[in-house]
Amino acid sequence: MAPPIGTTYHEGELAVQAKMGVAHTAAFRSGHQKTFLSKPVQEFFAERPFVMIAAHDAEGSMWCSMVATSDGTPCLSDISADSLVLKASTLRPNDALSGALVVGMEVGLIGIDFVTRSRVRVNCTVASALANGDVELAVEICASHCPQYITQRFWRADAAGTSGEAKGDEASARLTGPRGAPARFRPNARTVSSLEDVRGLIDGSDTFFIGSRYGRKPGDGDARHGADASNRCGSPGFVRVTGRDTLAFDNYNGNQMYSTLGNIVKDPRVGLTFLDWSTGDAVQVSGTAVIDFAPAGQGKEDGGERVLQVVTVRVTSVVVRVPEAVPGTWTKAQSRPLVLSRKVQEAEGTASFYLEAPPNTPPLAPFKSGQHMPVLVGGLNRSYSLSGPPGAKYYRISVKNIGKVSSALHELEEGEEVESLPPAGSFGPASLKPGSDVDAVVLVAAGVGITPMVSMAHAATMPTAVVHAVRNGKQWPFRGELQEISARAGVPVRLRAFLSGPTEQDLAAAEATAGEAEWKIAAKRVGVEDLLEIAKDLGASRPLFCFCGPLPFSAPLQAALEDAGIPAANIKSESFG
Ligand SMILES: Cc1cc2nc3c(=O)[nH]c(=O)nc-3n(C[C@H](O)[C@H](O)[C@H](O)COP(=O)(O)OP(=O)(O)OC[C@H]3O[C@@H](n4cnc5c(N)ncnc54)[C@H](O)[C@@H]3O)c2cc1C
Repeated sequence: MAPPIGTTYHEGELAVQAKMGVAHTAAFRSGHQKTFLSKPVQEFFAERPFVMIAAHDAEGSMWCSMVATSDGTPCLSDISADSLVLKASTLRPNDALSGALVVGMEVGLIGIDFVTRSRVRVNCTVASALANGDVELAVEICASHCPQYITQRFWRADAAGTSGEAKGDEASARLTGPRGAPARFRPNARTVSSLEDVRGLIDGSDTFFIGSRYGRKPGDGDARHGADASNRCGSPGFVRVTGRDTLAFDNYNGNQMYSTLGNIVKDPRVGLTFLDWSTGDAVQVSGTAVIDFAPAGQGKEDGGERVLQVVTVRVTSVVVRVPEAVPGTWTKAQSRPLVLSRKVQEAEGTASFYLEAPPNTPPLAPFKSGQHMPVLVGGLNRSYSLSGPPGAKYYRISVKNIGKVSSALHELEEGEEVESLPPAGSFGPASLKPGSDVDAVVLVAAGVGITPMVSMAHAATMPTAVVHAVRNGKQWPFRGELQEISARAGVPVRLRAFLSGPTEQDLAAAEATAGEAEWKIAAKRVGVEDLLEIAKDLGASRPLFCFCGPLPFSAPLQAALEDAGIPAANIKSESFG
């Protein structure tokens, strides 16, 4: 199937996507890139007390900086579809980008909510510099990204006047020299260090930020140019100092757009920032990067993540230490063991796992429908949507057996434990802002993508349709449970199934007349006309469409809905399965 949308990738990104054999998927994902900030994205940025930006300095070196308010108030204002004002005046005087943002400069910006693990990236240009040192940014491209590797952290603003004191329960300051000697530290002055001085911080990092650019060169046929800010997360060791002036990081399978690596192919200049979450200090590094596309199966022997590329950065500029760049108090989410109290086979290859708090331990934290839960198995971190009803005494995840972690889960016996992190995410009607005008919900899933939708159906508070695309009746999880939900729901919950490879038995079921609370089955692939019809049947004038499934399933339908006049803000998606 051809991707539905003209791509907005530059030739560096396209080259890496082609090299990695993911050009087709990436082309589908290009529809996630918008040339404006949708309403939900505007709301997301309106609540951010800090964002990371990437830009170059007067010498052309790339840097990444945190722009933050210390009191938890938003660091962006005057947000519209086309522009936003960045409180660049809050950059510390010794920050590498302090005073560097001039009119016409390309700026990459990324907002991350470390609690919900949501992140949105925007490529901008400085439209105007305000008298107070803030800058107005014009939006060029915006994309929301998958939460997969974001290390969850909780944050709270410091009380006035306490900024800079020892913070939170993150590990104690790691800005130490090679033998643990306290790092030299001169507040409010640019501090120049060697990489060796900050090895402890870098080698122990589970998160860092990277700025890169896709600069236009003379004779370059590519019209696009700009800067990108992004993040990388992993277990400590995934980024490490490898020499006197080199560091390297492992790159895992991500959203397959390859923005950062594509930029590096075009222009090797990068800026990396490491945060000491305990002291609030930031370390900024600037250099040039090279990509090793064949890291010889790293991570396989030790059971770790599959490393697709290793990026080595040769540090060409000074290392800048910015004291108190990171405001507030940070607490890294702690994992806890949960007991597998029940395991249920839902369909061919898919099982549900009911997880409960062990006896004499705190009860489970509440969750909202549409949220996911990271689980840790053999050093690997995988997220699974919660498929059970919010408020139950268990968390239920439902997993298709396809790889390392999913197969390990399928092998578990009842009574065994699973290490898990707190639920996170914001997907579906439970995440609508108060006062939203959405009047019905159409949940569209393919295969195991039904999992968050089951939880949403349990929690339905407005007319809802569940649309499930499956191959046949054997690979159709939650068929019975959703009928039970529909039969007793306080609002209409309609069920529609689309079977792409029906058996004789399925065809007979499709012929039968379905009751109000039963599945209406069609032996065909779901089309956009079906979705619009289903929304109309619900009596919806402002429906919210939520998609969950593989990109080649969701992306064409999402694009067709937009073409049919459904606002992008009313179309949400998560992709797996
Ligand atoms: C927010 C969110 C919610 C999710 N919810 C669910 C859910 O409810 N249910 C669910 O089942 N999944 C869900 N997922 C997907 C889940 O997180 C995992 O990605 C999935 O279970 C696969 O992990 P794994 O370790 O089993 O597979 P992996 O071992 O990571 O393998 C993944 C894929 O890569 C292939 N692969 C692995 N190694 C190689 C190699 N060396 N060369 C080539 N290909 C290889 C595998 O065949 C497989 O197809 C969700 C993901 C996210 C981000």
